[in-house]
Amino acid sequence: MNFFSSSTPGALPLPIADNFGRRIEYLRISLTDRCNLRCVYCMPEEGVPYEQLDNVLSFEEIARVARVLAGAGLKKIRLTGGEPLVRKGVADLAARLTATTGIGEVTLTTNGILLPREADALWAAGIRRINLSMDTLHADRFTQIARRPDFDRAWEGVEAALRVGFSPIKLNCVLMRGINDDEIADFARLTLDRPLSVRFLEYMPIGMVSPPEWRARYLSNEEALSRIRDAFPDLEAEEDDAASTSRNFRIPGAQGTVGLINPISHRFCDGCNRLRLTANGRLVPCLSDNYEYNLMTPLRAGCTDAEIITHVRAALTHKPLQSDFEGRLGRGGSLRIMAQIGG
Ligand code: SAM
Ligand code: SF4
Repeated sequence: MNFFSSSTPGALPLPIADNFGRRIEYLRISLTDRCNLRCVYCMPEEGVPYEQLDNVLSFEEIARVARVLAGAGLKKIRLTGGEPLVRKGVADLAARLTATTGIGEVTLTTNGILLPREADALWAAGIRRINLSMDTLHADRFTQIARRPDFDRAWEGVEAALRVGFSPIKLNCVLMRGINDDEIADFARLTLDRPLSVRFLEYMPIGMVSPPEWRARYLSNEEALSRIRDAFPDLEAEEDDAASTSRNFRIPGAQGTVGLINPISHRFCDGCNRLRLTANGRLVPCLSDNYEYNLMTPLRAGCTDAEIITHVRAALTHKPLQSDFEGRLGRGGSLRIMAQIGG
């Protein structure tokens, strides 16, 4: 078996890497494809084809995959969805994952609606960094974007994160021309007196969006940056970590930072160390590619730990060197919506 560094029983597998030598150290795990919101850029309003619950990975299965991959170089896990907190027991799973040898960090991406209830338990489970989604600072607009009248609850989630002391708290805002791009400066202003990392995400063509609709709404982060500079001319660039997917800035004297995540205009694929695991047990090597690998079937057929690694390596042979969202859009678009893949 060539995935072991030696034939010694108990020897650690070699680190998992793709065909281009990129080591996979970061697993994004979607805990559910369900959600309590219906964001326009992510889910259809109605008729969401939810996965049957017995086709969803159990926490036992997730913890096993994490443990096995941690033995082969996995260091970081992000829990996402759908909305991860609609699934019961997330803090218990997080505690298991943070206690897994080799896993240095477990983080969470949430829309914040259920965070006031869960924040203390998540902190106790060892989660320290959290990403919250917030696309507008106006309640009526929130209702249009998320298709649920829950702005106050989502903002209470941000306040709960600040109260508990997660750090950093990243506030993710998907920019859409004509929908929320007039709020760029207001979002940046939030960082003046709050320790928030506001991050503008470029709108990605995933799910049911048509090419013309996506093109009309897409706004590059270069344009976002120039609008931030118009409002805050003395904006300063932060020194970014090499593995960072965002370019970060600070308004002088501000408690928080402003970041730009550019999956479309500046691909950050060279240093990509990620793999995604969907709620129904598919490995997705790249968000811009429809390829997925069925890990669920071998897991449920009783595969060994070593075979899990073999399957992950097989999936990774399909990880492209560069993302190509627009190319896929031209070929019919993505097969899954973002809530099914796990953002
Ligand atoms: N429900 C959680 C939330 O909204 O934070 C976690 C799952 S959500 C799919 C993860 C992230 O993906 C969110 O920050 C969301 O804004 C982002 N996202 C979803 N669809 C997107 C799209 N088409 N383009 C860019 N970001 C998107
Ligand atoms: Fe739900 Fe998150 Fe998708 Fe919005 S972005 S619909 S909150 S999964």
